[in-house]
Amino acid sequence: MRIVGLTGGIGSGKSTVSNLFKSHSIPVVDADLVARDVLKKGTGGWKKVVEAFGEDILQANGEVDRPKLGYIVFSDHGKRQVLNRLLAPYISQGIFQEVIKLWMKGYKVIVLDIPLLFEVKMDKWTSPTIVVWVDSETQLTRLMERDGTSMEDAKNRIDAQMPLDLKKTKADIVIDNNGSLEELKENFLEVLKLVTKPLTWTEF
Ligand code: ATP
Repeated sequence: MRIVGLTGGIGSGKSTVSNLFKSHSIPVVDADLVARDVLKKGTGGWKKVVEAFGEDILQANGEVDRPKLGYIVFSDHGKRQVLNRLLAPYISQGIFQEVIKLWMKGYKVIVLDIPLLFEVKMDKWTSPTIVVWVDSETQLTRLMERDGTSMEDAKNRIDAQMPLDLKKTKADIVIDNNGSLEELKENFLEVLKLVTKPLTWTEF
């Protein structure tokens, strides 16, 4: 089985590329969705987070107050690391469960859409790894347009991540997404050919 890693920076176009894969019948495991599941009330991840951050981060119904937790960890790098470290094992387990389900359904090529591919070292499981890349100006403009946020807020969110230019150097395949959506679709078709080429014997 081939697990293709798909990553990039905030607002660089991962979800757009992920939708292109789905529209070509390639299944996508979305790490953000898995990360949501591991925080659901009563799960192992939920218990760890309540132990570490206290019951103050819970809503009245017992679910984690995500905006509140987000605010806490985005204003404190140390706390962000604590949260990432606590949840990482649950997230990788959840991802592997999703991958195995797809493998059992007979899929030979799947895509793992994961913003923190390199940071959490999941790239050791993926080949090839794709980075959706845009220059910093385009990234800033698209992020502000999509989320309706200020330039300062958008810059802060970009700066909180591993630099996109560094991710680009770690990629097997770079999708340049500075152009129009039409150009992206054309670039994508070339990448699709590469990732769907027949498996080598080591991938079986
Ligand atoms: P996040 O990490 O925040 O989830 P992302 O990497 O998934 O972001 P997208 O949501 O796919 O990024 O794209 C960011 C915004 O840019 C969206 O509004 C999307 O419609 C737009 N966009 C993506 N590619 C292009 C393009 N080539 N031309 C114009 N707009 C684009």
